[in-house]
Amino acid sequence: MKIILYAEKNLQVDLGIISSNLNRICKKLIFQVGKSVFEINSQLISHPKTYNSLNSTIIRETEQYDYAFLFTDKQYDNNYFFETYENKAIISFYGWNHLTTLSKNNGVVYFIADLIALKIDNSVRHDETTGCIYDFGWNKTAIDLEMRNAFICPSCLARITSKKFSEEKSNLFIDLREMLDILGKSSKWNQDIVTYWNNLNVPNPNIITKKIKEQLSSDIHDVFLAHNSADKPLIEIICNKLKSKGLNPWLDKEQIPPGRWFQDVIQDTIKKISSAAIFISNTGLGRWQVVELRSFISQCVERKIPVIPVLLPGVEKIPNEFVFLNEFNWVKFKNDINEEDALDNLIWGITGKHPKRH
Ligand SMILES: [Zn+2]
Repeated sequence: MKIILYAEKNLQVDLGIISSNLNRICKKLIFQVGKSVFEINSQLISHPKTYNSLNSTIIRETEQYDYAFLFTDKQYDNNYFFETYENKAIISFYGWNHLTTLSKNNGVVYFIADLIALKIDNSVRHDETTGCIYDFGWNKTAIDLEMRNAFICPSCLARITSKKFSEEKSNLFIDLREMLDILGKSSKWNQDIVTYWNNLNVPNPNIITKKIKEQLSSDIHDVFLAHNSADKPLIEIICNKLKSKGLNPWLDKEQIPPGRWFQDVIQDTIKKISSAAIFISNTGLGRWQVVELRSFISQCVERKIPVIPVLLPGVEKIPNEFVFLNEFNWVKFKNDINEEDALDNLIWGITGKHPKRH
């Protein structure tokens, strides 16, 4: 399970140290710190309005993760610590210093543990304060006790261990226990969990994070090359040219039956691409049906993925059946596919930066 973390500017937490140490102690959970800027442009957080107004770069970045946790000092309009929406949870540290003397870093680990605990089992929450991770916490000051105790009460433990869990949930439960163990160890001595970890002198926890980063970045492609398989030799040349410029294009190689291709492949692909180039030649679009292409493009537009129609040599204008492509700027290879200007324009469309003008 992959989790991405964000902190709003000025929030005093060290997500880098927290994620690398959680990666070290957890077996199933993989943590990453998000690159996009997280900002809430209103005084209060409201559900789902604030979630819907998150900027598109965060939405895009979080799509490949199972869960995104976004930490802020701002207050919910119902004064909750957090709510969840789709794969996201905005977590509020509002009024923290009145609730506990512990660091917000301990709070970050507590909330992650709490949300993972709910992922494992959300059938019961205690109304009363017991210090168990499954407390609901009507009284927010209970969080101080919950971080110091950092435990699962006997009745919750019995309930959870009696369930027949999938292997994934069993592994999540092991990770949850590791997180609670370390949270309790630091919190009961009033210690910042980041200081606790720094004093451990763990050799290079960043090595683990680096490996994950490499694994994740290979999943993401700068551009999807939609084309008619009759044009494949030409598209392969363009694909190689893009690679030589340091881009990571996606060219489908597998033979997938036409009917299944759109549903199975495109829905998955669209999450892994940053732009889409639609190649149009005199042979048309092949297995792409007009309806499919229109649906694909409207999904790209919805996700703010740039769409670039590319006219291959011999095509003067967008064919009538693809008239909806006229709302985008085209790239046009006039006479042959080695034209530098056209390639530069294509790279411009993909990256947003003109290769020669920067
Ligand atoms: Zn309990």
